[in-house]
Amino acid sequence: MSRREALLAEMGLAPIWKLRVREHVEADGWMPLKAAVSGCTKCALHESRTQTVFGVGDENADWMLIGEAPGAEEDRLGDPFVGQAGRLLDAMLAAIDLERASNVYIANVLKCRPPGNRNPAPEEVAKCTPHLLRQIELVRPKLILAMGRFAAQTLLGTDASIASLRGKLHRYAGVPLIVTYHPAYLLRTLPDKAKAWEDLVFARKTMASL
Ligand code: URA
Repeated sequence: MSRREALLAEMGLAPIWKLRVREHVEADGWMPLKAAVSGCTKCALHESRTQTVFGVGDENADWMLIGEAPGAEEDRLGDPFVGQAGRLLDAMLAAIDLERASNVYIANVLKCRPPGNRNPAPEEVAKCTPHLLRQIELVRPKLILAMGRFAAQTLLGTDASIASLRGKLHRYAGVPLIVTYHPAYLLRTLPDKAKAWEDLVFARKTMASL
């Protein structure tokens, strides 16, 4: 940091070029994407949604977690993973010193709730995936944790099972990607919690090696 930058930082001010870079990133990156998502009508889910659920967390995080689609609570509140599955996810993150407010970014494959919490339809996934891919481009995470089969299969372009994808280091667009169970599945299948813990330990080790 130059003496001039140090002085500005001391006064709580950013140099003008940094403000310009931030304006540029907003104007070219997040802002249009957020607007595109909140106004999206590319599939029929826009007719039944209360609101879109964009993503939450640190937009420059090293960790990016990707789930399936908003449920009822997420549709009501506008943030991903705020229901029961979200509480389990937060507890799992806390166990490896991660927190949605500070060092992870969380998003879903679908930005709108499928009615009755049914599975996403292939056409909905196809229409919504470009939003997710742009989010990944903007966050530029060091590691992606794909939670559940919709996130894993969408990003890896496969129809392989979660069981066969777990425990391996994959890549999406060059970014290391680890597959684990979806927290909602873990709520129904308690014995697999131990496997999810193995996945998190594997992810933490991988991150430490990057
Ligand atoms: N399940 C998901 O995949 N995402 C959410 O936001 C909530 C539940």
